[in-house]
Amino acid sequence: MSDIPHVLILGGGFGGLSAANEIRNNLSSMQVKITVIDKKDWFMVGFVKLWIIKGTRTFENSIGSLNELRKKEINFLKEEILKIDLQNKNIKTTTRTLSYDFLIIAMGASLTPEKIPGLSENGMNLYDHNQLTEIHNQLKKMKSGNIAISIMGMPYKCPPAPFEASLLIDSMLRETGVRDSVQIHFYSPAPITLPAAGPEISQQILNLINSENIFFHDSCKIKSVEKNKLIFEHGEANFDLLLAIPPHVAPKVIYESGLAKEDGFIPISRDCKTPFENVYAVGDVTTLTVTGTLTVPKAGVFAEGEAVTVAQNIILKIHSKKESSLFDGKGGCFIESGRDTASLIEIDMFSESKPLTKLTESTTKHLDEKIQFEKERLSKWL
Ligand SMILES: Cc1cc2nc3c(=O)[nH]c(=O)nc-3n(C[C@H](O)[C@H](O)[C@H](O)COP(=O)(O)OP(=O)(O)OC[C@H]3O[C@@H](n4cnc5c(N)ncnc54)[C@H](O)[C@@H]3O)c2cc1C
Repeated sequence: MSDIPHVLILGGGFGGLSAANEIRNNLSSMQVKITVIDKKDWFMVGFVKLWIIKGTRTFENSIGSLNELRKKEINFLKEEILKIDLQNKNIKTTTRTLSYDFLIIAMGASLTPEKIPGLSENGMNLYDHNQLTEIHNQLKKMKSGNIAISIMGMPYKCPPAPFEASLLIDSMLRETGVRDSVQIHFYSPAPITLPAAGPEISQQILNLINSENIFFHDSCKIKSVEKNKLIFEHGEANFDLLLAIPPHVAPKVIYESGLAKEDGFIPISRDCKTPFENVYAVGDVTTLTVTGTLTVPKAGVFAEGEAVTVAQNIILKIHSKKESSLFDGKGGCFIESGRDTASLIEIDMFSESKPLTKLTESTTKHLDEKIQFEKERLSKWL
């Protein structure tokens, strides 16, 4: 380790920004050098994508600039990460090679519509920021027909988000006066709406969407998409507008580095360590098993919590103390009802007996808290 240790953070999303700020808030630039690398120079809270679809936000009004990090003496490089060389402890980007003393991998999950034949030609990607305005325009134009919301692989980011999307689309169509002539169908490969939250909450979510005449179809494993038609392993469904959540995988450089299998994620424990010394991984790029096949959901709150855990352990190590923080597995996700209220799914993945989940009543207070959640993240990180 050189005189001042260098913490290199790959990815400037929820995990990367949370870790960088936690370390800088506790150690000065005389004590640690911090570098964040991301191929884009902006950050946006994930759920804002749904507000852009609804038309209550624009992309430009919803992003924070990663260049702001420099004001906190956190270096920011807008570059693509091409190689993670764990043996030689360095990273290659488009223009340079950077070495590190501590590495935090927070590169998120990549969306792979190309894995589903016919999807890119015949459907839209509900999670792609480049397609949000077009989705909004298509919805505005719709006078009648079938909308299909289709989850095309598990796990995917923020499990309740597609359900929330269906409720916001329902409200949008009510406002434009065409809801009675447009059907909304929801297709999932899972047997229940939210497997990670358990059967009771899944039933509550099902009741919520059914109460708005949104039809849920379980166990629909997608094979391919044709013009106006979804082809599942068992059966087919017609649509006029397809909004898909494509399969998620770890970025290519992750499996090329050997940290994850192809199409898999980096396995971690609650200390977020990888098998390599001083190399940690947090957020959507990881798999953290709770029990059996149950894993921590891919969500910003969990990426943030894991990043704080890692940051605290790095701070302890820099002070030559023993690492002691473990990710607590606690978090909450808001679900907007489309009727100016929101409920909150409270989650405690590692509670003593078994994972605990609770769905609160849908209130205006929770909607205010959701709005506040976004403001706080942008103001404290950038
Ligand atoms: C519609 C929607 C709604 C959501 N709602 C919620 C919610 O209500 N609550 C919640 O907690 N979460 C929510 N999420 C999920 C949340 O956004 C993600 O779980 C979270 O962003 C994960 O954080 P992360 O740091 O792991 O990855 P990300 O935030 O995705 O950050 C990864 C970063 O790595 C960068 N990167 C990747 N590869 C490279 C490369 N090769 N070179 C350079 N940079 C690279 C990316 O550009 C990206 O900025 C939602 C997501 C969506 C899409």
